[in-house]
Amino acid sequence: MAAIGENAHKRDTICIFGTGDFGRSLGMRLLKSGYPVVFGSRDPKNSVLLPSGAQVFSHAEALKTSEIIFLAVHRENYDFIPALSDLLDGKVLVDVSNNLRMNQYPESNAQYLSQLAPKANVVKGFNTVSAWALQSGSLDASSQVFVCGDDNKSKQLVMDVARSIGLTPLDQGSLLAAEELENYPLQLFPMWRLPFAIAAGLTVLFFIYSVVTDVIYPYVKDNKDVSYWLAISVPNRIFPNVSLILLSLVYLPGVIAAFIQLHRGTKYKRFPNWLDRWMLCRKQLGLVALGYAFLHVLYTYILPTRYSVRWRWINSLIQESKENKTMQISQVLSWRVDLYFALGMLAFALYVLLGITSLPSVSNAVNWREFRFVQSKLGYVTLLLCTAHAAVFGWDRFLQSKRYKWGLPPTYMWGMIIPCIVLVLKLILIIPCVDKMITKIRLGWERKLEDKVCGNKSFCI
Ligand code: NAP
Repeated sequence: MAAIGENAHKRDTICIFGTGDFGRSLGMRLLKSGYPVVFGSRDPKNSVLLPSGAQVFSHAEALKTSEIIFLAVHRENYDFIPALSDLLDGKVLVDVSNNLRMNQYPESNAQYLSQLAPKANVVKGFNTVSAWALQSGSLDASSQVFVCGDDNKSKQLVMDVARSIGLTPLDQGSLLAAEELENYPLQLFPMWRLPFAIAAGLTVLFFIYSVVTDVIYPYVKDNKDVSYWLAISVPNRIFPNVSLILLSLVYLPGVIAAFIQLHRGTKYKRFPNWLDRWMLCRKQLGLVALGYAFLHVLYTYILPTRYSVRWRWINSLIQESKENKTMQISQVLSWRVDLYFALGMLAFALYVLLGITSLPSVSNAVNWREFRFVQSKLGYVTLLLCTAHAAVFGWDRFLQSKRYKWGLPPTYMWGMIIPCIVLVLKLILIIPCVDKMITKIRLGWERKLEDKVCGNKSFCI
């Protein structure tokens, strides 16, 4: 408390309307940073639980003590504001409110407030910081304070307050941006929705496909019950295929974008919206792919410990000893299995590296070139290794007609289609003449301009 008292004279008083959760937490944080805090309340006498060191008055009295007023009241209760309109003349009125639903009202809360108090300088901000984070001080997740408003001086004052209580203010422009700021805390993992939807869709498809070909088919054909496959074998068919497809979907929009630029002969035209959206969630797609790869590794690791596998091994041993013969080691099979594991382990190591470098704390520590090297070059190597891992797993199975149950190809073949397309397209893009053209376009060259120049002259090389 002594520290608060010592610093208090250096800071201007801050007024907070509303003694609820947010008002109290903000008040506590401001007091800790040396601001004298005055609360404005409907019922000052009965206001309890206020942070020690703060004063509490009626709204009209409280706002006289400060140039900045934080309005920690829900929008539905703003009706007391018009009565204070004259007293709020020239004051900075900070709207911290959020809504329950996106675009709940025709105008943003901050714009509504500026209609109720037209003489005040309304600033929107602090709505993305929770009361809990303000109180506990663990602001890692929400230390950014988005601020917008029409009066620059008022906005600066609010940003200064944010800075001095350890937050990072970010100017978002005029009060028109308030609607976007109010919608922001209501979004639920916006960048993860598409990756999760694709992953869920693929999981369901592969599950149904694998159940039909691996569980129902042997039952119908040979009356063999392998329903226990549903626990480990079927999931372990799903995870690697979904992971590989998701990884290839990280790189597919990049190659599509390159072909679009080649076709248009310019980089100065917007990509279609769906491609923009796709490109924006590549990191999330990659991380979901990594999650599936982790599951594949775990499930593969425990395969030999399964009862059904041990039973099969023991039976084949008994069979061999009964028949008094020793099976010869197959060089081809040994190579195939070792190659399969080697490719898988290398691919997984690179996969993890890609995941680690996508973390903000790591990506902030490398420069743009290093980041591109890992995410693009090593990314394609990872995709190549994963595809090769799947191809070695399949080996010559695609040639064996018994693998096509009810005419359906084995699951790994479906998993390889998109990765192979991406790799072939990338191969075309790195052909020197194509690569030269795409580099030229990305440096700002436009075919249309050159055509114009060449059209005006009667010759052109
Ligand atoms: P709260 O706990 O319900 O507090 C709201 C306060 O508003 C009440 O304590 C009361 O203070 C005042 N109030 C209630 N009815 C009123 C009326 N009819 N007229 C005038 N004042 C009235 O809500 P809160 O969680 O602190 O949230 C306050 C604002 O901050 C909301 O707009 C919310 O969206 C925003 N916000 C909250 C958080 C959070 O984590 N809680 C985070 C970001 C933004 P008095 O009794 O002293 O008058």
